[in-house]
Amino acid sequence: MKSFIEVNSESHFPIQNLPYGVFSTENNPTPRIGVAIGDYVLDLSVLEKEGFFTDIIGPNSTIFNRPTLNDFMSSGREIWSGVRKRLQLLLSEDEPQLRDNYDLRNQALFLQNEVDLHLPVEIGDYTDFYASKDHATNVGIMFRGKENALMPNWTHLPVGYHGRASSVVLSGTSIRRPLGQTKPKDADHPVFGSCRQLDFELEMGCLIGTGNNRGEPIPVDEAEKHVFGMVLVNDWSARDIQAWEYQPLGPFLAKNFATSIAPWIVPLEALEPFRVKGPIQDPKPLEYLEQSEPGSFNIHLEVHLRGKKMNNPKQICSSNYQNLYWSIAQEVAHHTIGGCDLNTGDLLASGTISGPEKESRGSLLELTWRGSEPIQLNSEEKREWLEDGDELTMTGWCQGDGYRIGFGEVIGVIEPALDLEVALRKKANVSK
Ligand code: MN
Repeated sequence: MKSFIEVNSESHFPIQNLPYGVFSTENNPTPRIGVAIGDYVLDLSVLEKEGFFTDIIGPNSTIFNRPTLNDFMSSGREIWSGVRKRLQLLLSEDEPQLRDNYDLRNQALFLQNEVDLHLPVEIGDYTDFYASKDHATNVGIMFRGKENALMPNWTHLPVGYHGRASSVVLSGTSIRRPLGQTKPKDADHPVFGSCRQLDFELEMGCLIGTGNNRGEPIPVDEAEKHVFGMVLVNDWSARDIQAWEYQPLGPFLAKNFATSIAPWIVPLEALEPFRVKGPIQDPKPLEYLEQSEPGSFNIHLEVHLRGKKMNNPKQICSSNYQNLYWSIAQEVAHHTIGGCDLNTGDLLASGTISGPEKESRGSLLELTWRGSEPIQLNSEEKREWLEDGDELTMTGWCQGDGYRIGFGEVIGVIEPALDLEVALRKKANVSK
């Protein structure tokens, strides 16, 4: 499969991918839906208006002339698949309908570096799992000691918690260092101030397309039919706040200040050639979690960090989605088995994707072993935790034969914490 639009072999966005996003342009500031192809974004609202999807979606539809993907996501798998096939046809090198229509190409194709990207989905609920065994074990050792590292429930169910959807932000949004309570080691009382152990978590999220009715669980082998696509996620974490607050109900302020996602949602169908078995599950999961098909994907993942004074970023992590013990299907089945309804636009994140090797650890907490083994970024710079001005970039792709199914990037720069006097309203916030 090849497009008439030139796409180099390292591009994340060949015709085999076609991830969805929301964008606007200088001449038309209305956010609308597009797919990434090479260096371009293809405006689906224009193609829709020209009638290219009438036989799939129906006449006079405006499902792509929307500021979020939610309506399209709720339309279901047959329509997602139909639209994807139509786009692959329209973009293919042998198909003249778009290729030879310069008027239409001018209206519908924009260079990605000339558009503004927006948060692609209105996220209703955000759930964060904890699905990497290596991550759970590492964190367990550091927080509770070797004997209690992996809780007895961990190999029997995908452990997760309900996160905060309101603070899910688009890649590029700067991240303000959070304030909160921490309890210094050996101190009798907690102190209030800015987080001193700011961290990232390398994760991938799946976005629910079609949900379920409350009380009607989604069976594990049906689960993927409800998933619209996948996205890169950075689940920013405040480790010192987390260590003090997390027991007994789990993290709260340590996680709810920000979670960043990449602008492009890769359809599950695009990942099909990269489907692989996950790790062997021992003990065998209970029947409602038993999945008959392989449920993982071979997705290479990287994290890069660039300090304020550095010219070039340094790669600090290389991991793979395959490291996850629990699959998306098992997470969806478990999430709904008690009666919970999932809805269009829900984000289910994987939890930190760490593997067994040192370089595959997906957080600074693990890479620096809770700050005790700083990582060297260059001859001058080392890090225990994120510093103000640090730029953190995550990226990932599936490597095909001469092409990549890429997820783009999720980037965030750390901003200094709010002035304490301002935060406590003892002083006016001069920036407002
Ligand atoms: Mn997380």
